[in-house]
Amino acid sequence: MIAQIRAVCPDCGDVVVTVDDVDVLLWPADVCSYSFRCPTCAGANAKRCASRVAHQLVEAGCRVTYCCWPDEPHPNGPPLDTDALIDFAVALHDCDDIVGAATI
Ligand SMILES: [Zn+2]
Repeated sequence: MIAQIRAVCPDCGDVVVTVDDVDVLLWPADVCSYSFRCPTCAGANAKRCASRVAHQLVEAGCRVTYCCWPDEPHPNGPPLDTDALIDFAVALHDCDDIVGAATI
């Protein structure tokens, strides 16, 4: 039996997902987050969480990825300003093929 996890989608409220639907990201300095796709609206959700919660999700069988912060910003690019960040967020929201969009 696959464990079920109760999650909250900002659009649908309480939803139930399985461990196969949840990805846990573990970052340095005990920063943790998880993501899941809502089974009702198919929206992608990512939330920061306490390390206790992240480790419970991993123990339940969720996929885990160990992440690291980039060493330094891209040396040849301009600094990321608020307008560029908003444009990036809108582009991600409207994109159905992120891998294709990132391929040059
Ligand atoms: Zn939803």
